[in-house]
Amino acid sequence: MMKRYSTAAALITLALAAPGLTRAAPAQPRNLDFYWIDVEGGASTLIVSPSGESMLFDTGYEVGDRDAKRIYAAAQQAGLKQIDYVVISHWHADHVGGLAALAKMIPIGRFFDHGDAVQPEDRQRLEGYKTVAGGKRTIVKPGDNIPLKGVQVQVVASDEKLIANPVNGGGPNALCANAPQMGPAGPENQRMVGLMLSYGKFKYLSLADLDWQKEMELSCPVNKLGRFGGARISRRHQAASGDHEQRTAKGPGPNRRPLQAAQCPRRADRGL
Ligand SMILES: [Zn+2]
Repeated sequence: MMKRYSTAAALITLALAAPGLTRAAPAQPRNLDFYWIDVEGGASTLIVSPSGESMLFDTGYEVGDRDAKRIYAAAQQAGLKQIDYVVISHWHADHVGGLAALAKMIPIGRFFDHGDAVQPEDRQRLEGYKTVAGGKRTIVKPGDNIPLKGVQVQVVASDEKLIANPVNGGGPNALCANAPQMGPAGPENQRMVGLMLSYGKFKYLSLADLDWQKEMELSCPVNKLGRFGGARISRRHQAASGDHEQRTAKGPGPNRRPLQAAQCPRRADRGL
């Protein structure tokens, strides 16, 4: 699906922040660049707008500053002096763990998150986040926008709530009739901040660990998200269904989930 957009205005650059990987400073005017950073767990994605503004979605694990260093390396490759916006999807260790170290490496403009609802085991990470973000924190709700200049970044999920009306050409979904249902995952994976990025015809959906039940609410009976070219979603449900390749490679079908994924992160199911 990504190939469909290779000739569109958006040129997508996917880069691993591996040590020793170099990239020339971007020429002007710059593209919409995605840096998919391997944090060996959840995910961390650095997006640099053609305007030059940048947004980081999640920060990986703490683990001896490993992931913060990888994110910083990607920011350097992008020629950034600061990261303008950091969005934290939720309070699990593989998504917010790298933030404190990263904030010591590079200035961060503003912080966005789903709010103070938290499980006891995650409270320390929430408190650490609040210390880092200070007065630069914004709690988002569905329908809000992350003000990344040059692209539209809309919040489609946050704190167990979802956008009320379809965006991006969404509408009634004929795939829902035989779609399997699942119960809720742990509460934190239902509180996820989910984002829809639009740049011209290019649409990128990022739902992080949002669970099957909430994804179904976004998909059925009304597809609230329309069609998109790239996506980052959890693989937890794929292990349960076992038909990931069919869904992603062949498109709609009676046994496939209504929410089609063009690209999924590599991650194990470890209850995060
Ligand atoms: Zn999670």
